[in-house]
Amino acid sequence: MQSVGQSSPHRILQGILDATRESVMIVDSSRRIVAANQAAYDAFARQNGSLRNKRLSEVIRDLSLHDAFTRAIESGRESDIRMDFIGTERRSYDIHVSPIDLDDSPHGIGVFYDVTQIERLEKVRQEFLSNISHELRTPLTSIMAFVETLEDGAIDDKENNRRFLGVIRRNAERMNGLIADILELSMIESGNVFIEVKQVPLFNLVEDVFAALSSKAAARRIELINNVGQGVKVTADPVRLEQMLTNLIDNGIKFNRPAGRVTVDLGLNGGSNSISVSDTGEGILTEHLQRIFERFYRADRGRTREVGGTGLGLAIVKHLARLHGGEVSVSSALSRGTTFILELPA
Ligand code: ADP
Repeated sequence: MQSVGQSSPHRILQGILDATRESVMIVDSSRRIVAANQAAYDAFARQNGSLRNKRLSEVIRDLSLHDAFTRAIESGRESDIRMDFIGTERRSYDIHVSPIDLDDSPHGIGVFYDVTQIERLEKVRQEFLSNISHELRTPLTSIMAFVETLEDGAIDDKENNRRFLGVIRRNAERMNGLIADILELSMIESGNVFIEVKQVPLFNLVEDVFAALSSKAAARRIELINNVGQGVKVTADPVRLEQMLTNLIDNGIKFNRPAGRVTVDLGLNGGSNSISVSDTGEGILTEHLQRIFERFYRADRGRTREVGGTGLGLAIVKHLARLHGGEVSVSSALSRGTTFILELPA
């Protein structure tokens, strides 16, 4: 609190207020700021500027804030208001303004709670819920429609009944996969996934992933190429590394052109192993490139629906890479292909 007087209790109070995350300001009857704590300086003072003795309206142009201080000073009433303030970035505040008598004259004291982050998280939460509902509803609608068709007589239609059951099973599997991915993400995000790093023979691990995805690759005539040297080891949690590579290679197959290639390579980058997964697919537009690691983000909704997938795979890869102390990045050239690089500390 930058204010007059340096008596000991005053200094204690000043210390407390300066250590407070909320901004605190005291305004006098001529609407000038007579005191403000460090947080208020950080939030509202222009570069190296002062707050003391400035008019409130000069520092923050907000009518409802001004009215709240007027109510406190002239009528001795408290108020709670919401305010958005655009400084270096837009921030939102819940503000409590109350009357306070100082040296026998009425003042107003405002405490500003920064709710920007809470609001951001609330928006993410709502979007997440609405995405999940949407993603679950699509296969569920299909399951319900086909069950109804079977009930309405198609069960006796020998030519189609198995096909309809197949559609129901595929949609149920999709819901199952989605729920598994959501649980996985929430486990990772709540800090309940621990990794145990070992020396992992990468060539063999890539061969295992290729084997698991071989029928999917064959269906699209995609060639899977393992360029990792035999016997080379990387430091990673083998289960989690397999999970990351499965996601990246699976995407490389799904978003490839027919008869394309997916290649896995290993390079050394400073103190890190960089495992690359490249494909010869359609590539990703620059505007989508940085967002594809977000939950449920898809570059091309129509296409992804066609090839299947939850939109959570890359979010999981990003979290798992970070749990290893590493990072995942992407580069892409339209109609030439995409390369994901997994950097893991050696
Ligand atoms: P999905 O389950 O949809 O594959 P991901 O999180 O794995 O979810 O990927 C998110 C989106 O990123 C995909 O829907 C797709 O639009 C894009 N994408 C991922 N990998 C590739 C790739 N190798 N080539 C082109 N687009 C890709």
